Amino acid sequence: MDDGFSGTNFDRPDFKRMMADIEKGFVNCVIVKDLSRFCRNAVDGGYYLDNVFTKLQVRFIAINNCVDTFSSSMNASTRCITVGVQNVINESVAATTSVNVRGTLNMTRSKGEFIGSFASYGYMKDPKDHHRLLVDEEAADIVKLIFSMFLGGKSVLGITKELNGMALPSPSLYKKLRGLKYTTPPNAVNDGLWSDRTVRRILTNEIYTGTMVQGKNTTISYKIKKCRAVPKEDWIVVPDTHEAIIAKEDWNRAQSLFSNHVHTGRNFETDIFAGLLKCSECRRCMNKKTYRNPNKTYIYYKCATRDRLKKASCQSHTINRNRLYDAVLLTLQKMSEAAVKAENIEKRLRELPKRKDRQESLELSLKLLKKELEKEKEAGLELYPDFKSGILTKEEYLELKTRSLSKKEALEEKVKEAEKALRDNESKEKNLFFEAFKKYGTITELSRPMLSELVEEIIIFPDEEIEINFKFRDAYKDALKALQES
Ligand SMILES: [Zn+2]
Repeated sequence: MDDGFSGTNFDRPDFKRMMADIEKGFVNCVIVKDLSRFCRNAVDGGYYLDNVFTKLQVRFIAINNCVDTFSSSMNASTRCITVGVQNVINESVAATTSVNVRGTLNMTRSKGEFIGSFASYGYMKDPKDHHRLLVDEEAADIVKLIFSMFLGGKSVLGITKELNGMALPSPSLYKKLRGLKYTTPPNAVNDGLWSDRTVRRILTNEIYTGTMVQGKNTTISYKIKKCRAVPKEDWIVVPDTHEAIIAKEDWNRAQSLFSNHVHTGRNFETDIFAGLLKCSECRRCMNKKTYRNPNKTYIYYKCATRDRLKKASCQSHTINRNRLYDAVLLTLQKMSEAAVKAENIEKRLRELPKRKDRQESLELSLKLLKKELEKEKEAGLELYPDFKSGILTKEEYLELKTRSLSKKEALEEKVKEAEKALRDNESKEKNLFFEAFKKYGTITELSRPMLSELVEEIIIFPDEEIEINFKFRDAYKDALKALQES
């Protein structure tokens, strides 16, 4: 596991080292468990497999995907096609594999060992044992300062402004300054400013009392590195695993201060746009504001940076909720219409010669395996009569029977695998983009589940211009590209 690098890019040091070794001729075979671990981007993955590895005569095996560039059953042309298709597929299946990874990580967590790529602000990984945490004195002092300000009666926002006023680097900038291989997700903000969210996260993090708390978040999607909160009862909590920075009593006191100030919206509902709106300038979230006068209520969204965090760091701008709602609704309706119309595009895609070949070859190999299995079963049944009639000695009979059984089992296993590959191939053929839109049919109004499924982010520009970034847009591009090429 490349510490601190998440496998989506080829800039990982270990990957670069491997490529250097390959070029020097030290490596002649690369084996990965799953293609999605190797690459999650069709274009780059295809480039390495089809050009670099082939040219350098390096064998490439992806166990789960049945890809073996030296396999005799794959001739040059089908090999490239398989890899090409698999690469496209990868973009949709990386999600499944990340579930497996999470499963293994939880095991280590329950032992109280630290498994994150980065220690929480205030701690660092023990250089001798990466599962242990040591106090990072410099950052720990800031953590202590934050707690003392909070317990002294300062609000979270007040503390945030104070920290920015003191020009202290935010935790993410601090990590960078310390030379950690910390890469900010592509769309995230890293202007070195503290945000109230960061301060709140520190004030509520139990890790500072010496208790290891892990598994609080789970990644929503492999591509957007956004996290979803896990219910508190499912967190993995192990006390006294490392040195405390904050006394347990102080930490408890801070938590009770929080519970007295629970902020909930007026109608206890999450706003449908919550978390999706981003300011075009600073890329921070836009906050919902309500302005009431006796006749009318205006709801609008405003970039939070200027008035909350630091003046003059972003030009303040707003967007009216009704206008935003109408614009998003109209866009989604257009996309949905296109997706419904494109239903037969999908069908055409499935009938493209490349994909058809793949499907047919999977079907054929399953058929052959089944035939083989039947033969083996019949042969096994003939052994006993042969033994009875004296054609076989007891030893011969027993040996042949064992051999036949293990051969049968191996074949049964292969049949199962082939059936799975066929099923997977069929489901992967579905284009996620169209599937997602078709699900909602004719869209007449916006809903929170719909927006969070279809939309990655909505960027708000100063003149009320908006840009909607959809999820699955790569799947959409792939579909269009495949059609153009056909
Ligand atoms: Zn802004």
